Amino acid sequence: MIYRASTAEEAVKLRHENPSSVYLAGGTEIMRLGSSAAADVIIDITALPLSDIETADGKVSIGALAVLQDIKEAEVIPSFIRDAASFCASLQLRNAATVGGNFALRRTDSYMAAALLASECEVEIMCSEGVKKMAASAYFDKPECRGLLLRFIVDTKREGRVKRISRASHMHAAVTAAFSGGCYAWSVSGSGTAYGHSRDGWKNIDIKDDLTGSAEYKRYLASVLL
Ligand SMILES: Cc1cc2nc3c(=O)[nH]c(=O)nc-3n(C[C@H](O)[C@H](O)[C@H](O)COP(=O)(O)OP(=O)(O)OC[C@H]3O[C@@H](n4cnc5c(N)ncnc54)[C@H](O)[C@@H]3O)c2cc1C
Repeated sequence: MIYRASTAEEAVKLRHENPSSVYLAGGTEIMRLGSSAAADVIIDITALPLSDIETADGKVSIGALAVLQDIKEAEVIPSFIRDAASFCASLQLRNAATVGGNFALRRTDSYMAAALLASECEVEIMCSEGVKKMAASAYFDKPECRGLLLRFIVDTKREGRVKRISRASHMHAAVTAAFSGGCYAWSVSGSGTAYGHSRDGWKNIDIKDDLTGSAEYKRYLASVLL
């Protein structure tokens, strides 16, 4: 079943009414054959006006439906976040995959999660009680949240760096690590995500072997990348 939401409120209401439901943004994950994110009900949010990238008062607001290619090209976005969007090696995928979809998935090989968490940005979400603003990390830590990401709000002056190691640019990352303004973040494939102000924060992840490499290899990468 597919519903086409015409407002953010309607999308969130549908999501709460249907236990097995997902939002359709770029669809690059949920429309994939065998995707673990697939569900019985699809709530199409693509008609919502959530793809703008705008600046005001030293902040850049990135709509959740902005695609990775838009982010890569937007000079107002801090360069390390644009670099993270570039990690998606396929132009076709960058033109379809949205920043909201990527962050909401909380993948351990996520293109964007480490850079956004290290940026200590905020998110605006629509939930059943209305619009809320919160730290992106607070949203990230609640995978059960059914709210709709509306936008990411990032300090335009934020500087940082992000690195990603994979066997080839189009393959899944073993480790992605980012640093900005004293905050570190790591996504470790098949293992987890960690962020915070300690350089050793990656040690909080129970790092496991998977197809991207051995646990020992990934521990080494996490310890040296930043
Ligand atoms: C060949 C291939 C390789 C890939 N490799 C990687 C990879 O290495 N790293 C990686 O990170 N991803 C990878 N992906 C997955 C995917 O393309 C990206 O994560 C993408 O950014 C997801 O965005 P989307 O807009 O397509 O999300 P969708 O597929 O539309 O939705 C994905 C999930 O996000 C939720 N969602 C979407 N928008 C919102 C919102 N605004 N608020 C709250 N929840 C929302 C949905 O409910 C759903 O659960 C790959 C996909 C393909 C096809």
